[in-house]
Amino acid sequence: MYSSKNRPIVDLTNGDLRARIRFCAETGQIWLHEHRMLLVHAEAQGTLRRELISALGMDRTRGLLTQMGYAAGMIDFELARTRTRGDDDLEAFMAGPQLHMLEGIVKCTINTLEYNREAGTFYGDFLWEHSWEAQWHRDHFGTYSEPVCWSQIGYACSYASAFMGRPILFKEVECAGMGENHCRIIGKPLEEWDDAKEYTRFFIRESIAEQLIDLQTQVVQLRSAINEKEKLPADVVGNSASFLAAYELLQQASKSQITVLLLGETGVGKEVFARSLHEMGSRCSESFIAINCAAIPHDLVEAELFGVEKGAFTGALSSRPGRFERANDGTLFLDEVGDLPLSAQAKLLRVLQEGEIERLGDLRTRKVNVRLVAATNVDLKQMVKEGKFRADLYYRLNVFQINIPPLREREADVTLLANRFLEKYSAIHGKKLLGFTDKAKRAIFAYHWPGNIRELQNMVERGVILAPNGTRIEVDQMFSSYNDQTLEFGIDGNGGINIDRPEPKNDIFDAVLNGDMTLDQCEARLIQAAVDKAKGNLSSAARMLGLTRPQLAYRLGRLHESASPNHNSALSFVQTI
Ligand SMILES: [Zn+2]
Repeated sequence: MYSSKNRPIVDLTNGDLRARIRFCAETGQIWLHEHRMLLVHAEAQGTLRRELISALGMDRTRGLLTQMGYAAGMIDFELARTRTRGDDDLEAFMAGPQLHMLEGIVKCTINTLEYNREAGTFYGDFLWEHSWEAQWHRDHFGTYSEPVCWSQIGYACSYASAFMGRPILFKEVECAGMGENHCRIIGKPLEEWDDAKEYTRFFIRESIAEQLIDLQTQVVQLRSAINEKEKLPADVVGNSASFLAAYELLQQASKSQITVLLLGETGVGKEVFARSLHEMGSRCSESFIAINCAAIPHDLVEAELFGVEKGAFTGALSSRPGRFERANDGTLFLDEVGDLPLSAQAKLLRVLQEGEIERLGDLRTRKVNVRLVAATNVDLKQMVKEGKFRADLYYRLNVFQINIPPLREREADVTLLANRFLEKYSAIHGKKLLGFTDKAKRAIFAYHWPGNIRELQNMVERGVILAPNGTRIEVDQMFSSYNDQTLEFGIDGNGGINIDRPEPKNDIFDAVLNGDMTLDQCEARLIQAAVDKAKGNLSSAARMLGLTRPQLAYRLGRLHESASPNHNSALSFVQTI
């Protein structure tokens, strides 16, 4: 049994530890008894500590340094054992703190030390001054909220545990790193601490590399889960009768190699349908290649479809396969097929008839085995009549037609799809949201979705991005037109997202150009919108339109006179003023 209070540590100059240090300049070694030591710049050690913190964070660095200190404590205990052979017990224990001082780490003074090795009791209360770790941490990070002498505490724990032959846990109850003048540590057998677990976790070695690989694997799995979901049920979600009818046809077509023509408005999900057809069919393990004929300049579309040989035209610097070759044994999806120029239509027809392609500038023909799925949102039959689309190609493509209904005819599916997109984009953007507000739900249901599923998808994505974590998506986070402010994210007429400002509503322009609306009706709509926005204030509405109030009044009067009974809806405001 040993007990000591407020006893200074034995003066090292009188001890023999110092005498055991040997500098062997000629061999480039420093020895402390039989252990090789290093004389390291404190600042360099500090750099390592800083790098660890920035790479691994405070918590992991704390664990790592605690373990490093723990290892040092074990070795010093080995060393201490060699110099005490059942001598003064205090001297036996104090070798550890002395070594710690000798190594330049901290000055240690006993406040209280009581232990009985046979009975296994231990209580140690020490004062630490000039702690290197505390000083460094304070210099670099300012005063910290928790003790920072991580490797030193690891050292104390392992040394005392080895000395006692049972786990002793030391805690820093005061630390200079937290702004105090000194550090103070208290050590007791592990089981006497109620909160031991909070500390012992820092002694558990964890392989960071393994954790990283683990996380990486998880990320890959999650991503592929998202992708898998995306392939089938994903955007091909629906319960409405019109959708199910189209899907039924798709399933039938997937059992054969028949050429499929998908019809539907922009944004109804034609590519998703085409991809599903591919996934359900026998070619699912081969490539699915999509090309949007409207997105490629006419003079390049043939090279893109059929490939090109080096030198075939200026700019053809190397030979490359076209989409047909890349889709060999798989599926080729030709979107907006109505936009193909006539010369490309002729070549396409030949490929379909003969099953072989010729790259541009090449005399060789190559066999291709491709399942073709075409899609269009225009009336191909009409184009045939106008001589803009080859009749023979039309009949070749129009073997098995599937009409994909617009979203406004799929009332039952809108909510289903919105929830599906919410789930998808929350995962992609790492957001945790509670869903949609009731108002947003109603707006989703009421809106007529001219841009179809693509518009819905983009609006939900915008909502997911704008809504803060833990909240519900609000109306104005999805629909810019529901409030007056211009949002950062706009939706264009095709349902595409544009980040800077909302695009003008192209559907009105289309309506005028297609003859569905007259210019006068268009003007009436615009004027109505301005009057609505000005809440009936004509002066303000006139300012918005760049007109004087009398000019606006004149136009209103004119529209009123010319309004036929059919146009009442567009001019309803006229009766109200
Ligand atoms: Zn400290």
